[in-house]
Amino acid sequence: MLDTAVIGAGMAGAAVAAELERAGRDYVVLEAGPHRGRTHIAADDDSAHLADPAQDPSFTPFLARPGALYGPFSGYRRRVGGRSLYWRGICLRVEDDVLGEWPAEVRDALRGTGGEPGLYARTEEALRTWCRGNRLTQARTATEEAMVKELTGLGYPAVPTPRAIRMLGRGRWEAYSPITDLPPARLRAGHRVTAVRKRADGYSLILGDGGGPALDVRHVVLCAGTLGTIELVDGLLHGGDREPRRYPLVDHVACGMLVVEPDGRHEEMESSVHAAFDAPSRSNLIVERQRHGEGVLLDAWTMGEQPPEAASTVLVGDATRIVLEPPARAALDAVRRDQRTVLGRLAEHAGLTVHVREEYVSFDDALAWAEAHPGTAACYDATIGELDHESGGLALGGEHVDVTGQLRQAPGAAVVGPCLFPRAGAANPSLTTLALARYVVQRMP
Ligand SMILES: Cc1cc2nc3c(=O)[nH]c(=O)nc-3n(C[C@H](O)[C@H](O)[C@H](O)COP(=O)(O)OP(=O)(O)OC[C@H]3O[C@@H](n4cnc5c(N)ncnc54)[C@H](O)[C@@H]3O)c2cc1C
Repeated sequence: MLDTAVIGAGMAGAAVAAELERAGRDYVVLEAGPHRGRTHIAADDDSAHLADPAQDPSFTPFLARPGALYGPFSGYRRRVGGRSLYWRGICLRVEDDVLGEWPAEVRDALRGTGGEPGLYARTEEALRTWCRGNRLTQARTATEEAMVKELTGLGYPAVPTPRAIRMLGRGRWEAYSPITDLPPARLRAGHRVTAVRKRADGYSLILGDGGGPALDVRHVVLCAGTLGTIELVDGLLHGGDREPRRYPLVDHVACGMLVVEPDGRHEEMESSVHAAFDAPSRSNLIVERQRHGEGVLLDAWTMGEQPPEAASTVLVGDATRIVLEPPARAALDAVRRDQRTVLGRLAEHAGLTVHVREEYVSFDDALAWAEAHPGTAACYDATIGELDHESGGLALGGEHVDVTGQLRQAPGAAVVGPCLFPRAGAANPSLTTLALARYVVQRMP
């Protein structure tokens, strides 16, 4: 019988495979989507437009009936590599005070103890090696350098945004993806796992419509994205129960402001600066500039935690496929208010006039307004589910998963991905996802 099956070949699944490979274990990775190459979409002029889900044939919405929350453009990129071939490479650590609420064992492993580097430092070092030895905060354009100076002059502790990317010339770049190193013989594309069932000596994985033979394995690692993994775990632990079960789910809360600078000059590559972490709004402030027609688009945005008390709820049951209940609005509105203050302060420092509307404004609407009013800033908001940062539901050390990433009620079955985060904090999830892949595999039986 095969030692281990990994379900999902996205960011988490491919990173788990790399660790299994290093550990010399026998494994296979099952991915629902097809092979569409392993090249990051920004590396190729013909694929950069795929960042827009509406133009991407691999895009598959999370929900059969999307609503305002996790709407029609929240979903997987169902293909080998998953969203690791789309991400922007932004690598931030979860803030220390938020990690303080994670189980001590995991926190210590991530941060390191007794002067020993932890998994965050080791993962960053591996990414730095991949970036041809460049620091993740290496300035990538002259504009980035100038923006750092400008923001530092305004009192911000600005650095180029930490990103695991390599420049390829002519404005093209690629972000790190663990899928590039996966040996082809280990991969089975077009294999959607519809259920995981316990058997005496391991697990049976039911594929597709269940009509064919099941795959029997000793161990399984579920990496099917946060919602997909919750659904598979729920079926494994509670299959047959009528009552729907509830899992908390969070995204990030984000808003920004756009300014079109018609006479700006800019390199082909976008520039991105991490201006500051703002403690009152518990948000990161990032300022970006990129070519926009004949001019430049300035996009300053803040991204913070969706507070745990304002988590959405995933309902899963045999009679109920995945359904989402909305979060408490008041706590979200409070974050948004504080974020608007951060943007207002930046605008004041930079001498910008801001056009603010109380209601929700999409990025596209704000852009149209900014194009019509060059030099004036227009605010926009992201809706919950729009950022591809869905996390939680199967917290490390929580009800379903122990501190090593194993399911408490299913020995030999582990989980990896942002679903493991006990709290998300403001940071983008992938650096932590990559570090947790190492953490979980190193502790597998
Ligand atoms: C445009 C974009 C920009 C982003 N930028 C950043 C960034 O700068 N920094 C950052 O930290 N994060 C960023 N992200 C988010 C990051 O990409 C995701 O958090 C991360 O990829 C999630 O990893 P995952 O493995 O959980 O899910 P995915 O990468 O989505 O992988 C899940 C895989 O599982 C497969 N799957 C699902 N169900 C099944 C099943 N039943 N059987 C078999 N296979 C299945 C899916 O097809 C998919 O390939 C960005 C995302 C996007 C789309």
